[in-house]
Amino acid sequence: MPGRIVVLPEKLTHRIAAGEVVERPASIVKELLENALDAGATEIAVELEKGGCQSIRVTDNGEGIEREDVALAFARYATNKIAAFEDIYLIRSFGFRGEALPSIASISRVEMVTRRASSPAGTRLIIEGGEEKELSDAGCPVGTSILVSRIFEPVPVRRKFLKGEPTEQGCCLDWIARLALAHPGVKMKVSAGGRVLLNVPAVKDLSERIALTLGRDFRGQLIPAAGEREGVRLQGFVSRPEFTRSGASHMYFYVNRRFVKDYLLNHAAMTAYRRVIEYRRYPAVVLGLEVPPGEVDVNVHPAKMEVRFRNPRDIYALIVETVSSAIGAGFPQAREAGVAGGAEAGRAAYAARVEEALRRYRVSSGPEKLFFKEAPGRKKEIPSMQPMPAAGEASTELEEPERRTRFSDLVYLGQVAGTYLVFAGEKGMVLVDQHAAHERILFEKLRRREAETGEREIGQRLLIPEVVSLPPRDFAFLTESVPVLEEAGMEVEPFGGDSVVVKALPAFLPPGEVKTLISDLLSDCGEADRDLPLVERRERIFTVLACRGAVKANRTMTSPEVSALCRDLDVISHAATCPHGRPVAVPVSVFELEKMFKRR
Ligand code: ADP
Ligand code: MG
Repeated sequence: MPGRIVVLPEKLTHRIAAGEVVERPASIVKELLENALDAGATEIAVELEKGGCQSIRVTDNGEGIEREDVALAFARYATNKIAAFEDIYLIRSFGFRGEALPSIASISRVEMVTRRASSPAGTRLIIEGGEEKELSDAGCPVGTSILVSRIFEPVPVRRKFLKGEPTEQGCCLDWIARLALAHPGVKMKVSAGGRVLLNVPAVKDLSERIALTLGRDFRGQLIPAAGEREGVRLQGFVSRPEFTRSGASHMYFYVNRRFVKDYLLNHAAMTAYRRVIEYRRYPAVVLGLEVPPGEVDVNVHPAKMEVRFRNPRDIYALIVETVSSAIGAGFPQAREAGVAGGAEAGRAAYAARVEEALRRYRVSSGPEKLFFKEAPGRKKEIPSMQPMPAAGEASTELEEPERRTRFSDLVYLGQVAGTYLVFAGEKGMVLVDQHAAHERILFEKLRRREAETGEREIGQRLLIPEVVSLPPRDFAFLTESVPVLEEAGMEVEPFGGDSVVVKALPAFLPPGEVKTLISDLLSDCGEADRDLPLVERRERIFTVLACRGAVKANRTMTSPEVSALCRDLDVISHAATCPHGRPVAVPVSVFELEKMFKRR
């Protein structure tokens, strides 16, 4: 256990990059939880009011603080964890800057009650506006309870930067989940506005904690992964290749039990999965690295989510090997496909991937750059898929409503690669991406129905309603989106605890895909979009529904289907692109054809 608290010498305090510790309520939750864990707590309760924007209480049964140390804990750079600069590199506990409590107290009102097992009486400390208001005896159990309220009152400008309460609460819950996954042996209870959102007992098995924290659907979908290389150990669970998500939000990495967001680590895990899951699908992974403290710098970023490894190449290889053999073990075809790096060609491709990842790692490890923003994700990839506008006179034609091509007037010639429809027209040739076109049509229908007719899409009731269990923040997002989903013909209702029941789907969606649909909705309406106003959120949700409902690539279309598609394209506006921004149709003018054949 750490020793008594000392004030760090000034020289040292300057050498520690002072960061903005308290950015938003979630930062407070994170710091208080880490302090509780550092204090050896085995039970922690978190209570949030108004998404953590009004107040946050964290109660633990840890070692508590001595009376004479209580005020010192709120002094800047007071910590019981390091005394000399070199120690920073040997840190094992979470906190070590002694910055959190003073920073929190400077922007809020803090009330702390704490007692050590050796003291008969506890202590109550109240700090307001950065000043001590009360220090007195208090009857309380062993441990510490901190109530933080009037958050950001002294800095009103900060309040303006806060997103809506649901988003702030979501961010708090994100941190709680990250810490809960790293400490399966600690009982955690989380409530918001009096409602219990998470209540996980202490468990021995991490996979059990994952299922309780991220959703029961994970049960039975997790494969243990463990490996070692050059003194670095990797351990955790990875999802079966068929249990994929459409976003990378369920990829959790820890370095010495500290949650990190790191491009390199994500990239390595994706390399292992590359051949066994579809493009743009992501696995769920909860992986912890045990790295000798001198081999890793956790001090790169004040929020401490980034790390820098002395030997990134070894770390990369360890992850690829361990994850590959984990998914290979359960899925021999993965090994045959050369995932573990068998074939020569595979090896070259692998080497190229490693180099690319390392290059980006170096480029992005600058102190001011939050490089997880660059993690592989679909938003980033879309721009590269933007069409090259076809050269020549026909290129603008589809965008100009007056002169727009009527698809029904074109002559359908056939399908190429199971995906592209080829048409002949007076001015040349038109190529249509069947999936993009259908997606655009469904999207426009959803969007206009309500505005123009006041009706909503007719839902198709499921014979057997499906219950889906969700992590708390997704639960909140989904239940708030119910009016939008209803507009699209989807019936979703809260179903006790963290579950929802799906009773009806839009008629254009195939039934039996409820879980994938929900998980796509949640990951495609990603972090940034969650606090969008309802109107815009509506667009995002409709985009996902349209995408799932649209006829897939690689499917033969019959002539009547093609005619129907053309009629539909003629009545909607914006026919030129799908809702993701990819082109629906690309015209090739006679002029361009002539150029191709060197007639011009
Ligand atoms: P750090 O965690 O970086 O040391 P903090 O400002 O978070 O700095 O906390 C200052 C000190 O207060 C800690 O070093 C610790 O001794 C004490 N402390 C804070 N929270 C708790 C807690 N929940 N239980 C016991 N001690 C605590
Ligand atoms: Mg701390």
